[in-house]
This record gives sequence, structure tokens and C-alpha cells, in this order.
Amino acid sequence: VTFKSMGLIDPLLEACANLKFLKPTPIQAQSIPYALQGRDIIGLAQTGSGKTAAFALPVLQNLYKNPSTLYCVVMAPTRELAYQISETFEGLGAGMGLRCAVIVGGMDMMSQSIALSRKPHVIVATPGRLMDHLENTKGFSLRGLKYLILDEADRLLDMDFGPSIDKILKVIPKERNTFLFSATMTTKVEKLQRASLSNPVRVAV
Ligand code: AMP
Repeated sequence: VTFKSMGLIDPLLEACANLKFLKPTPIQAQSIPYALQGRDIIGLAQTGSGKTAAFALPVLQNLYKNPSTLYCVVMAPTRELAYQISETFEGLGAGMGLRCAVIVGGMDMMSQSIALSRKPHVIVATPGRLMDHLENTKGFSLRGLKYLILDEADRLLDMDFGPSIDKILKVIPKERNTFLFSATMTTKVEKLQRASLSNPVRVAV
């Protein structure tokens, strides 16, 4: 299987080539075809498996076909991971004018509000700070969101982001796709899975 045979469009094939992604990793080969078909995904995969591109490529492909702002939110447990994810989106979306905002704790609220007012296509966030903006930043809502990605779900829950995630789930559309990635499948992750995904495909590497 190749990126081309999975049905990725030319701008993304070019971006993969530029990043020296020559062939899909196992998690990419297993999840991208289902994600492109519009399925929700649970991926059991560690950092280093290529999971970031596994969720970013299908999101970018569908965004390319149906351009829209505030299209995708990725929730990540730490600032460092959030920046890494945003770099992957920016690298893969370089040819399509992608706007990506990182919204994490410990950084200035006001400059983040300005970034949100520019209506990015993708927001990579830690859940607490994203909730803070949903409650306090005028004009910011996620009513048209198409994709929710919960990355490192086990760590998100270990860090007690569960309540913020539950609140965010209440204010985003039910009609959306959700991808949940986790290194381990715990009881808490299963509960989050039931609250956030519908009829998901399970992939494990
Ligand atoms: P991740 O598991 O998403 O943190 O990715 C781990 C590393 O693998 C990152 O440095 C990616 O840039 C790289 N990577 C992701 N997909 C591929 C691929 N298909 N071929 C080569 N490297 C990749």
C-alpha cells in the first residue's frame, strides 16, 4: 500500500514526499483508508508510530475538498505535544494555505483570542485552555466543527482533562468525525470512547 493507492490527493502526496514520508507506517496504512471513508477511528498507537500524520492526512484531504474554517480541533495533553502536532499539520498543509492555531495553557490569553478571531482551519489545544476560550472569548464557538481528535487520550485523562473534554463535547456538533488515539486502553479511555465516538473502527499497531 502507498499513499497514492490509499487515495490521497496530489497536494498531500507532494507534502509527504517533501517530508520524506516515502511509504505509510502501519498505523497510517490501517487507519487512513477508513478515515477517508468517513469512519470514526480508535487507534492504539505509541508516539513514534506516525499517528499524527495518520489523523492529519485525512483531515487535510477532506478540508481541501470542503474548505471551511474552525474545521478541526485536536486535543493534546501537553504544550510540547500540541506544538509538535501543529508542526505536522503545517508541514502537510503547506501547499493549501492552512491556518493552524495552538491554544495551550501558560501562554497569553489575548494573543490566543486574536489567533482564534482569524478563524484558523485547525486548532491544536490543551482542553483546559480551549474551554477557557469557549467561555470567555467573544465570538468564538465551535458550532461548525467537522473533526475532533483526542490524541494520547490516556494521558489526557491522567492529567484530569476529563471534565473539560466533557464540556467541550457538549458544545460541538454531534454530526462530526472523531478520532481517538491512545497508547493504552484503560477503563477511563473506554468511557471517553463511548461518550465521543460513533461506531468506530479499531486499529492497533
Ligand atoms: P508521530 O508518531 O506522529 O509522533 O511521528 C513520529 C515521527 O515519524 C515524526 O518525526 C514524523 O515526521 C515521522 N513520520 C510520520 N509518518 C512517516 C512516514 N510515513 N514515513 C517516514 N516518517 C514518518
